[in-house]
Amino acid sequence: MSDWLDSVQRVEALADLPLDPALVEALAARSQESGTIRFYTPTFKVFETQEIAACGKNAWPALSITGADCKLQCDHCKAKILEPMVPVRTPELLWRRVNELIAGGAEGMLLTGGSNHRNEVEYGPFLPTLRRIKGQFPQFRIAVHAALMEQPAVEGLVEAGVDVAMLDLIGAQETITQVYHLKRSVADFERSLERLTASPLKVVPHIVIGLHYGQLLGELQALEMVARHRPQALVLVVVMPYYAPPKRPFATVDPAAVGRFLLQARARLPDLPLLLGCARPAGQAKALIDTYAVMAGVDGIAHPAEGAVELAARLGRSVAVSASCCSVSVGSEVLGGEDQGVSLDLAAILAHEQRQRAVQGGLHGIRVVAG
Ligand code: SF4
Repeated sequence: MSDWLDSVQRVEALADLPLDPALVEALAARSQESGTIRFYTPTFKVFETQEIAACGKNAWPALSITGADCKLQCDHCKAKILEPMVPVRTPELLWRRVNELIAGGAEGMLLTGGSNHRNEVEYGPFLPTLRRIKGQFPQFRIAVHAALMEQPAVEGLVEAGVDVAMLDLIGAQETITQVYHLKRSVADFERSLERLTASPLKVVPHIVIGLHYGQLLGELQALEMVARHRPQALVLVVVMPYYAPPKRPFATVDPAAVGRFLLQARARLPDLPLLLGCARPAGQAKALIDTYAVMAGVDGIAHPAEGAVELAARLGRSVAVSASCCSVSVGSEVLGGEDQGVSLDLAAILAHEQRQRAVQGGLHGIRVVAG
């Protein structure tokens, strides 16, 4: 058994995972001096992994300028991602909501909206209000889901004082046509990335692994776009097609395929902050993906699976934990937020795990959140 498989065996929460030994060997062979790995978890005191509800929604709420409306109705989403967001359908409502959110402690916001038929989010009427927000609250950070952008739209975001632009990169025409029902090209995605990275905006593209009905198809091409245009960070997420229509089902993405892609991403972009965002399948698939992600040398993992923190320490990585969620993680990685996290060593992690197990055992497995 390789050293790394042996290390996984020592982590109780991961010991029974059906890892791909050849992939683990490849990951171990490519491992080089990796820097600190940062885990973003809102309840880091106990490494609790289930508490999405505690995610820093108050600190970084998500707002949608179209409410739950979207013209594209992509097969994996059907606009459902927009439903839980704060609807701000008019500039006046945006101004009012942002004032309320800041009064409630918000540090920034993720602003998005449904697309038109060209996969553009029509921010135009909202730009003066964004400018007003930045004028009145210069510390308030604004991250915008850019989607596809022509040059005037990019300039609009810059003039409005937006801090970060995000966009999903798609590298396969089949995926654009079939999953997004969109008459745009791969080159349109690259041109949008190019325009954004040429601007003063900080740019954080996302690659949705498995977007082609659960198969990997255009991910490597998307990775090449990132390599060509050098944004500030890259977020990798794994498709969660909860809303896929029965006629166009998605397979669960093979965690080993995700692991191989993470390895390729790390090798291709050795100096770029590489974050595993919180969208990924749950259960064993998540445990496998997170195990491979730690081994691949990503810089950050949002909402890590149980055992991932311990594994990172056992593999000799320097570990830091931040009590925040992935939207904040992008904010702090890219914007230099104040939460620098807490550094942990293996002894501290193991002592914590032992305390947890003792508490759980003593209460017949009922999980207790310690202070
Ligand atoms: S464009 Fe975005 S919000 Fe609209 S359906 Fe597609 S993924 Fe969902």
